[in-house]
Amino acid sequence: MFADLIGNDAAKQVMKRFIAGRRLPNSLIFAGDEGVGKRQFALAAIRAMLCRDTVDSEPCGVCSICKRVGEFAIPSEEDKDAHKLVIWSGHRDVGTVISYKRSILVDAIRSLETEANFRPYEAESRFFIIDDADKMNDAAANALLKTLEEPPETSHLFLITSRPDSLLQTIRSRCQMLRFSPVERSQVEQFLIEQKAYSHDEARLASALSHGSIGRSLSINADEYRRRGERMMAVVNNAIGGRDIATLLKISEEMNDAKNKDGFESEIDLLESLLHDIWRVAKTGDHSAIINTEYSATLTSLAEQSSVKSIPSWIEDIERLRSELNVNVNRKVATDSLFVSMAAGQ
Ligand SMILES: [Zn+2]
Repeated sequence: MFADLIGNDAAKQVMKRFIAGRRLPNSLIFAGDEGVGKRQFALAAIRAMLCRDTVDSEPCGVCSICKRVGEFAIPSEEDKDAHKLVIWSGHRDVGTVISYKRSILVDAIRSLETEANFRPYEAESRFFIIDDADKMNDAAANALLKTLEEPPETSHLFLITSRPDSLLQTIRSRCQMLRFSPVERSQVEQFLIEQKAYSHDEARLASALSHGSIGRSLSINADEYRRRGERMMAVVNNAIGGRDIATLLKISEEMNDAKNKDGFESEIDLLESLLHDIWRVAKTGDHSAIINTEYSATLTSLAEQSSVKSIPSWIEDIERLRSELNVNVNRKVATDSLFVSMAAGQ
């Protein structure tokens, strides 16, 4: 329901006006970063058009229609044939097309074209959501173009994308585009506390790391993040403050442990971000620009040490290490050598 959606109030108002006037465009593009709720907005709009108990263009959210609209029978990732067809929700006039592996199959768009031209089954209109519309290859995009050129009056298409510029210009020009912004940090925080029963501490941390994406905020594991934070703070402390090579090599071993396989890259990212924070404070004296605010005090005091002058070259080393991760580099050796040069103050 619109009332439950976080942020993007302007988009909400536009959608509610369309719905109140029963003037929902036949083809819409919802563009904006991953995880800001574009698909949820599309579902809310569809419910608002179909629900028989709307109040002020808000669907009731509890009737059988509202419930069925969100219940898609998503096939298994391996089932290619199922990805060649429109996937229906519990409501036979609400379907979606999703990508198979990395692209949307042309057959799926042809299936959509056929279905969009059929009369509605139980409602007055039919609704189709194309998820990750930028994943249409040329054949699929051209097939969709045919539908967009002569849109059936009783069908509405929602193209969801985080990369609108990758869509054909001819597709963009035939759709009305609505842009979605990242959700404000305070709104993400409030949502996590009120709707997901997060503690204030957890909500503050997850919202800070969410970059305005509700989806991402929900996927952040606060405990794990803290553990990584402490480990990388130990690296900067030992490199800038203590020059303790033994401790650094021990941390390198932990980072490269098989158990930490998925954590390694985030740790390297975090290390770089901590070094940026220290460098910024050292150069400008401005604490307010610190990104990793939970470590503000320590980062600020480290910025006063003379060895901070090496930070730019460490950051270069980190970036080189990261680019080498794509080729077959020995991660442990590369981390050791990074830490050795950090401890040496080079
Ligand atoms: Zn309803």
